[in-house]
Order: sequence, then structure tokens, then C-alpha cells
Amino acid sequence: MTKNKSVGSKAFSNETLEIDAMEQTLSKYLQAPESKGLRVGDDKTPLLQYVMDQADFSVMITDANQKILYVNQTYKQLTGFSAEEVIGQTPKINQSGRHSQSFYDKLWQEVNQKGRWQGQIWDCYKDGNFYLKRLSIQAIRNDKGDVTHYLGIFTDSPKNQRTEEELDRLTHYDPLTQLPNRILFRNRLGHEFNISNRHDSKTGLLVLNLDRFRMINDAFGFVVGDELLIQVAKRLRSKVRSTDLLARQEDRSERDSDLISRIGGDDFSFILSELREPEDANVVARRLLEVFKDPFVANGEEVFLSGSIGIAVYPENATNENDLMRCAESALERVRSEGKGGYRFFSESMNQRSAERVRLEAKLHKATQGQEFELHYQPKFDLKSHEVVGVEALLRWPQEDGSHISPLSFIPLAEDTGLIKPIGSWIIEQAIQDIHQLNQSLGKRLQIAINLSARQFVKPELLQTIRQALESTGIAPELVEFEITESMLIDKTDQAFLIMKKLRALGVKLAIDDFGTGYSSLSYLKNFPVNTMKIDRSFISPLEYDAQSIEMVKALVLLGKALHVKVVAEGIEDREQLNLVTESGCDLAQGFYIDKPIPLELLQERLSQNLYSPA
Ligand code: C2E
Ligand code: CA
Ligand code: CA
Repeated sequence: MTKNKSVGSKAFSNETLEIDAMEQTLSKYLQAPESKGLRVGDDKTPLLQYVMDQADFSVMITDANQKILYVNQTYKQLTGFSAEEVIGQTPKINQSGRHSQSFYDKLWQEVNQKGRWQGQIWDCYKDGNFYLKRLSIQAIRNDKGDVTHYLGIFTDSPKNQRTEEELDRLTHYDPLTQLPNRILFRNRLGHEFNISNRHDSKTGLLVLNLDRFRMINDAFGFVVGDELLIQVAKRLRSKVRSTDLLARQEDRSERDSDLISRIGGDDFSFILSELREPEDANVVARRLLEVFKDPFVANGEEVFLSGSIGIAVYPENATNENDLMRCAESALERVRSEGKGGYRFFSESMNQRSAERVRLEAKLHKATQGQEFELHYQPKFDLKSHEVVGVEALLRWPQEDGSHISPLSFIPLAEDTGLIKPIGSWIIEQAIQDIHQLNQSLGKRLQIAINLSARQFVKPELLQTIRQALESTGIAPELVEFEITESMLIDKTDQAFLIMKKLRALGVKLAIDDFGTGYSSLSYLKNFPVNTMKIDRSFISPLEYDAQSIEMVKALVLLGKALHVKVVAEGIEDREQLNLVTESGCDLAQGFYIDKPIPLELLQERLSQNLYSPA
């Protein structure tokens, strides 16, 4: 004990505690024979406890299996997690999902081989926000050399150094690009409205979004992504500085930098103060888009970026900040839906579109309450046994006039409004019930594939819904497969991985839908517990006239085989395509040539009449 006390008080008396010193203290403490079983917090060691809780940095101690045994007070202050919440868990609870699995693999390899890892790492507060921290992890070994504990020490930026000026910067400026953030931008916008009122002039608002930026971030990693954002910000700023459109010349230099802001991940905004004519904003938009002419260089690689701009003008389009922002965003949305890379002014017709959306939303609410949805089923055909081995459930929303609204248009709306929860649960229950009944009456073992939307996938109640549906029917879980898209995996890698593991633990299968359309990252795919890969229709439709597509399908099949997953070709519309995917080695085929998605009764009829035998 004396040993601990003396080292502890040394650390205590030192005002500028160094991570290294603290680490030494603690590792010595952990190695001390009398500390077996880790008695931190025990009455016998009040001083050490005190030091730990006063420390300017967080301390975490785990056992050899990375199970958390202890965290100090500072840990709670910094991360928001209390000791009770994390003890017994693993440090994964802090992971941000911004690093790849291989990053963590390398980290732990270094800890275990060299005894220690030190570096910067993105983690997650309890509230879900990310922060960058300096972390040191040390392996603590016993006399025999076996790891008994791991010691983690970390800090974020030292709070005692935050001056008022710094706090102001933190709240009003984006730390990455040093541009004003959303808060400052809003202040400025309101201010500009006042000036416009006094001078009877107009204020223009441009919102710029980088096209496909998320994809670039996923492909190159966030470090490169951040670097690109910095470069974009720099170039944009230079354009604003050189603009001669800002009518009022006085105190320009001082205000310029406040006129451009970074208001979100890859969203920038520009306030054009005292515009003479709304059309003047054209010139600025064109000038801003010029920054994308030349490639950016990040991590030694040349990257071409492009941007889209939405424009709205005060007081023409709206008379308050929120509405003006919304107008600029709908104009931006329009540019993006038209193929990205360009600019557009807000127009009233866009307002109408949002009114339509509100109407559709109300209708969707009613449909959910009145259970107006139906499921249709499309057969999946086994290319070796020449039999239908499963079906995919596809959602239908029948309208009074006999037409259907496409799930592609109302599922995003259901996600935005939260209605995906009841609709999604209904789909799962109904589809499992239907296939179970079909199998029983036909004496078959058909598999059911159910699509999951991104929101549905991350909802905690998903597992419970599935478990219940499995139990209430008694269906063999391996007959149930869930289709998810690549983007759902890339968004939140770690979280997705955990959800997938839990789903697989229920015994159900997982398929990657629309494969090839997202950023098909092999490193992700390799690590995910997937059973099936569905090659997207866009590869299948040009098969007959495009040799390259055939090669691509073959390559995807090879990839599938290497990953030991079944490969399904989607969207087979004719005999020729069926032959080509069979030759390419696909396992299953699905498409209008085999059958369209049809109601359950019709499917049952066709199956019992053996209508799906090879033509
Ligand atoms: P998906 O999962 O890729 O579904 C396949 C889509 O392709 C279906 O469109 C299907 O009718 C269509 N299709 C099948 N074979 C062919 C073919 O040979 N040629 C052509 N041109 N099309 C074919 P659908 O039913 O309109 O669904 C569109 C998308 O909506 C689905 O794409 C899926 O992403 C989503 N969706 C459908 N049902 C559900 C559901 O129950 N839940 C969720 N979350 N999403 C669903
Ligand atoms: Ca699907
Ligand atoms: Ca698909």
C-alpha cells in the first residue's frame, strides 16, 4: 500500500499531470501483488481513488478479456456514461463507428505485442456525438508474462485551457474548416434581413452540398474526407472574397468571412447581402461551382468533386430564416433529383411539391391505421434444381382506382414520419405467417425474404418483433432471410455488425440487396455475417448487348463464391438473361421472366400447378 500511496501523492502534488506519469502510477498499482482482484475504490486505497477522480483525464481498467472493471469520475464527465452503465461491458460501448475493424485489430495487436498503443481515436459520447480523443492503452502483465488487465487513459482537449474567446470559437466556428458554423450563420442571416429591410434591398441565400460526398468518405476514410472538406472550404472562401457582387463595400473584409458558413457535414451556405436583383445570385453560384473544375488532392490521390446549389431570396421567397432555409433546401433537393452538379432558384412549384408530400403523409397515416397494405410475393428460382426455393415479400399500397403507389416513394416517407415502425412490424409478421401457411399447405420448405429499411434495421425492437413472429408460427428460422442494402452497413459499421450478429443468433439469414450499386467495400463485406448477395438489376438488364456487364456479373459471382454466399441475379426479364446468369454461375434467379410479384393465393395456385418448371 505504501508504494501506491507514495506514487499516488506524487501524481497528486503535480499540477500538470502527464498522461505518462499517471499511466506509470496505475500500471505499478495494478502490478503490485497486493492489488490482486483490483481493489480500486476499496477503503484501503482512498488516496488513489481520490487522485483518480481528480485527474484531468479519464481512466478505464479492464480485465484480460476487455471487460470493464473500473472507470474514474472524469470518465463520466467526459463521456456521459456512468460507472454502473459501463462496468461489465467492453470498451466497444464508446466506439464511434468511424474506424474500420482493421483499425481496432491493429490497435489491439500493437497493445498485445508491444505492450502499448497511443494515438488519436474517434469515440462516441453517450448522447451519440463523436469526439476525438488522445488515448493510451497499456497491457498489464503478471510475473508469468500473462496479460491480467488493460489500462486505458484518455483526454479530450484540456478543459482548463478553454478561455472565453476559445469558447466563443467553439460555439460559433466549425473546428475543421474554421468557417462560421450553423449558429453564427443563423445570427448573420437575421442580421442581414434587418439590413435588407432598412435599405429596401434583398438578401440571397445559397446552400451548397457536395455530391456523393458520403461515398467518398466511405471509400477513402474520414481522415481524407476531412482533408477534402478543408480544401473545399478554402477554395470556396477565396471565391467569396473575390466576389464583387456584395453591393456594400464598407467593412467588407471584416464581414466576408462570416458570409460563408459550414452548416453541416458537407453543407455550406452563403449569404449574399444586399442583392440588387435576385438574378445576381446566378453569378455567385456559377463562380462557386468553378472551385470543382480542378481536382483536389488528398492522401496523394486526385479526387474530383462536384457540388449542387439551391438558391432562395429574402423577402421574395420567405420572410423568416427558417422558411428561407427550407426554400433553399428544396431548390437544392431539386438540383440533386435532376442529376446533381448545378444550381437552381427556389420556385413556388417546389412549395406545391411539399404540399403534396404533406397530403401523402396524411394518407399514409390513414393507411397504416386502416391496414391498407398488402404483400405480394415474387418467386426465387434455383438455377441448379430448377425449382422455386423461396419468395421475396414486396409491399403494395393499393389505391382506390386500382393502381399502386410504389414502395420506393412511400417507404422513405414512412421512415421520415416514424410510420415505418408499425408498417415494418406488420410486414415481418404477415410475411412469416404467409410463408408458414403456404409451406404447410404445400408440404414445402420455401424461404421467405423480407426487405428491411434503414431505419427499421437500427430500431431496437426489430429483434423482438422477429423473435415473436418466429415463435408464434414455429417456422424454422433458417427459412427467413432479411434483405438489407450496402448503405445500411457503411453508415454505421459497428452498430450494423452488432445488429447483424444478433439477427444471425436468432437463426435467420441475411442478404445484401442491390449489390454493386453502393460502395461495395470488400473489407466490410468480408467481415459481415451475410448468407446471400443479390446482384442488382442494373447489371442484369444490359447483359445481352454489353460484354462488360457479363464480365462484371462473373466477377461478382466469383466474389460471392469466395465469401461463401449464395448469389442471386435480380430482374431477369427474358430467356437470354436467364441463360447468361446461369452460365455465369449464379445460384438463384428472380425476375419478371420467372414471375412478377403476385398475391399469396395466386402464388399458391401456381406452385401447386407446378407452373414454374423450366420452359
Ligand atoms: P428491391 O428489394 O430491389 O425489390 C425488387 C424490385 O424489382 C421490386 O420492385 C420488384 O417488383 C422489381 N422487379 C422484380 N423483378 C423485376 C424484373 O424482372 N424487371 C423489373 N423491371 N423489375 C423487377 P418494387 O416492388 O416496386 O419494390 C421496389 C423497392 O421498394 C424494393 O426494391 C425495396 O427496396 C422496396 N421495398 C419493397 N417492399 C418492401 C418492404 O416490404 N419493405 C421495405 N423496407 N422495402 C420494400
Ligand atoms: Ca429486395
Ligand atoms: Ca434488389
